[in-house]
Amino acid sequence: MSTIARVETFVVSQKLRHPFHFSQWGFDHRAVCLVRVTADDGRYGWGEGYGPADVVRAGVEFFAPLILGGDGLRTGALWQQMHARGHDFARRGVLLAALSAIDVALWDLKGKILGVPVHMLLGGKRSDAVSVYATGMYFDDEPNLTARLATEAAGYVAQGFHAVKMKVGLGVEADAVNVRAVRAAIGPAVKLMIDSNHAFSLREALDLVRRVEDCAITWFEEPLAPDDYEGYRELRRRSSIPIAAGECEYGVAGFHQLFGAQAVDIAQPDICACGGFTEGQRIAALARAHSVAVTPHCWGTGIGFAAGLHFLSTIDLLPGRLRLPESFLEMDRTENALRDELTQPRYPVIAGRVTVPDAPGLGVEVDLLRLADFSGPAK
Ligand SMILES: [Mg+2]
Repeated sequence: MSTIARVETFVVSQKLRHPFHFSQWGFDHRAVCLVRVTADDGRYGWGEGYGPADVVRAGVEFFAPLILGGDGLRTGALWQQMHARGHDFARRGVLLAALSAIDVALWDLKGKILGVPVHMLLGGKRSDAVSVYATGMYFDDEPNLTARLATEAAGYVAQGFHAVKMKVGLGVEADAVNVRAVRAAIGPAVKLMIDSNHAFSLREALDLVRRVEDCAITWFEEPLAPDDYEGYRELRRRSSIPIAAGECEYGVAGFHQLFGAQAVDIAQPDICACGGFTEGQRIAALARAHSVAVTPHCWGTGIGFAAGLHFLSTIDLLPGRLRLPESFLEMDRTENALRDELTQPRYPVIAGRVTVPDAPGLGVEVDLLRLADFSGPAK
């Protein structure tokens, strides 16, 4: 027994030197709520929630009293305890992200108590490294945005990435021009994904598919509003490009709805929002039953990236065969000191792949001095 003695939140934030935007809104700062769960013997685990940081913090404070005094090894039982209490309010949304943050911290703690990495707790990694893709190519006020996007994409390839994901959602004509420019800049061998962050109607999404389907797009991410399950079903039926979604989906029941609608080829749960590792495993099992690929969404600090890395390294690749299909983890490359300066290790990309940590738990160390620097209002 390892009794949970303390649950703490740390809202960290950073002003961006170069603000950017995507199809929905702009960013001039970043803010994340981290969670540290400490046991009575002083060992601790880190987690983070994906969502508005102050709201995640309020959610963690709601759940914390329910697990204090509990056994830190009983991650599933603690999850149930929190979810049962929050069920009226935590089926989806930020409260489930808060529960996820605690769950990730509990799995980190459990790994440290047992002296094994989280991937081992999940069943063991398939290989020592996983393929990653560079997420970038956001929008800014650069007058020649198309050229800027193409140059940025080529830069990721020069850094060793074999796959890149760009934003679309400015409008189908402009998007098609940008996609063609990026494809030309990276050459035919590099995988290219497009992500609209649910910017389109069904007709617009189909229009964009037709305009860029000769550009060898690996997947079209969040083409439609997350709740438009019928639209997704119709789009997927008519699209020659595989359809991906899931960063705005929550819990195994939410993914059940997504898969039941035959909405996606690729599911993208965020471990720091979908219900943590505990619920992520259930989502992966359900995806397997529906023959849907899983590749986690990651857009936070090194803690969230480590969570995605451990999770993806253990997921079944479908269909099984001698030379397995490749599966990619998201590696956001936008300006993010919270990712680059707050935690170790920094995950070098070697030949398009990142090594899965073998240290106990998540294998992430938080720099407490930098944590203090990033706490409080964004600066
Ligand atoms: Mg996305």
